[in-house]
Amino acid sequence: MQRFHHAMADEHQRRRELTRDLQSAVGTGQFELFYQPIISLWRSELSGFEALIRWRHPQRGLVSPVQFIPLAEESRLILPLGEWILRRACGQAVEWKFEQRGLSMSVNVSALQFEQRDFVQSVQMALERSGLPGHCLTLELTESMVLRDIGLAGRHIRQLKESGVRFALDDFGAGYSSLSVLQSLPLDHLKMDRSFLQACRRPDSKRPRLVLETLVSMAQRLGLTVIAEGVETAEQGELLRHFGCDSAQGYFFGRPQPADEASSWMFTAAG
Ligand code: C2E
Ligand code: CA
Ligand code: CA
Ligand code: CA
Repeated sequence: MQRFHHAMADEHQRRRELTRDLQSAVGTGQFELFYQPIISLWRSELSGFEALIRWRHPQRGLVSPVQFIPLAEESRLILPLGEWILRRACGQAVEWKFEQRGLSMSVNVSALQFEQRDFVQSVQMALERSGLPGHCLTLELTESMVLRDIGLAGRHIRQLKESGVRFALDDFGAGYSSLSVLQSLPLDHLKMDRSFLQACRRPDSKRPRLVLETLVSMAQRLGLTVIAEGVETAEQGELLRHFGCDSAQGYFFGRPQPADEASSWMFTAAG
């Protein structure tokens, strides 16, 4: 019991320190975006990148977004950080000539950011300042986020769609999915959580495979493009192609990598 209390106190202390360090990290160049390729399965070509944030902590080294994004939300630091992420990702997409190449940059949006009254304006501002056309930007939202206020979510999505921005429902199938979001929101892409592929690996994977195949066809009938996350082997890629899945993302195709590596990867991939 005592050990448990110590562990709790340590965890509390660690979170406090990280939050304090986050405050000073915003605006000091400790953040960096990594980019992971998204591959169109039927053409076997690049369709875009997902921007994933990294924090190079001066003492702790690379800190995972899984650790610091929740702290950044609690402290509201996600607001300035989120704007930086949007600007940086849009700027990179312009530099990499996404419009000419027909590529899209996917950016993760946090709940607090998405709920802001000026969210739509801040995205439009990032587009205007960078010169990126809206159709080259995809915003990734999660189900729990949009369910907090489905009316507001619908308004924000519709307003930004007028500028051509696309929307993906992230981590679909992780935890409880209600499908109600699919009924009511005009989304473009469904990102299947990697737990689906993991389940398909188990010895008795008949049912998981059936679930995956059915979800792919359901999503497509709703006019959504399906992106599978967490593809780690050629076999998984084949399975997805067999199921008619549109796109895929995962270590098998490419890991999240710093901008310079992603750019040389893109140029070699383009031949
Ligand atoms: P996510 O949006 O679901 O991002 C996908 C995560 O899966 C990334 O972890 C990525 O590195 C990892 N991944 C990609 N391919 C594979 C694979 O084949 N196998 C496995 N096991 N993992 C794979 P990462 O970069 O650590 O990000 C974790 C989460 O942090 C993200 O999950 C997202 O929710 C959040 N996040 C990351 N960047 C941002 C950001 O810029 N803004 C916000 N608001 N959240 C972010
Ligand atoms: Ca994502
Ligand atoms: Ca995801
Ligand atoms: Ca996630």
